[in-house]
Amino acid sequence: MRFDVLTLFPDIFNGYLSQSLLNKAINNQLVEVHLHNVRDWSADKHHRVDDRPYGGGPGMILMVEPMVDAIESVQSRDDETAEVIVLTPTGEPLKQPLVEELATMKRLMLVCGRYEGFDQRVFDVVRPREISVGDYILNGGEVAAMTIIDAVIRLIPGVLGDEDSPRQDSFSTSNRLLEFPQYTRPRSFRGLDVPEVLLNGNHAEIDNWRRTQSLQRTQDRRRDLLGEG
Ligand code: SAM
Repeated sequence: MRFDVLTLFPDIFNGYLSQSLLNKAINNQLVEVHLHNVRDWSADKHHRVDDRPYGGGPGMILMVEPMVDAIESVQSRDDETAEVIVLTPTGEPLKQPLVEELATMKRLMLVCGRYEGFDQRVFDVVRPREISVGDYILNGGEVAAMTIIDAVIRLIPGVLGDEDSPRQDSFSTSNRLLEFPQYTRPRSFRGLDVPEVLLNGNHAEIDNWRRTQSLQRTQDRRRDLLGEG
């Protein structure tokens, strides 16, 4: 799967790309991440890509020309057409079913905003998918882009050691519940014992206990997932 990330701060990604699962997936050629600095499409001699908002108000707005030029130019760099995603707090909330849908695609372009966000005409011209990672305001779209990459690559076959693992995760469409409590060694810590049922090797009983715990936890913490919002 190919990711193209458009950002004013490509260096933010370096540490993240060189670590853990993502680094392994890149080395195993399961994932490619291409970083593009939007300033490269600025017509200004100082490489400016932002300007003051019409109508007044605080902050700066990302200009339509360099943004659209960057998106169109990067789109043409591969035969596979990318699903263009602009990260914005006003977009569709990122939930696991959307992550699962994105994981079926071959190429995603992630466009990161900064300052007060984008000139509206970027959306009007490009007609991207607009995605928010939650109801809060980040300083830029880079962390949001990393969130999408991180969530999506887990679902690409071969990236995780155990292919069943994502199916058991909280929110997955094959589960839709919160995950049950998990334990590892030691069996006892400060008087807290691992539940007996997990030690007896009876897989039917273990599955049943886990299902009950998942349901209970979802009812206590996230009734909205059970359609009882
Ligand atoms: N003025 C904008 C508003 O109120 O909607 C917020 C701009 S924010 C400071 C700058 C950039 O960070 C946005 O253009 C977007 O790319 C990114 N960003 C901030 N919060 C985000 C969120 N919750 N989800 C996705 N992207 C976000």
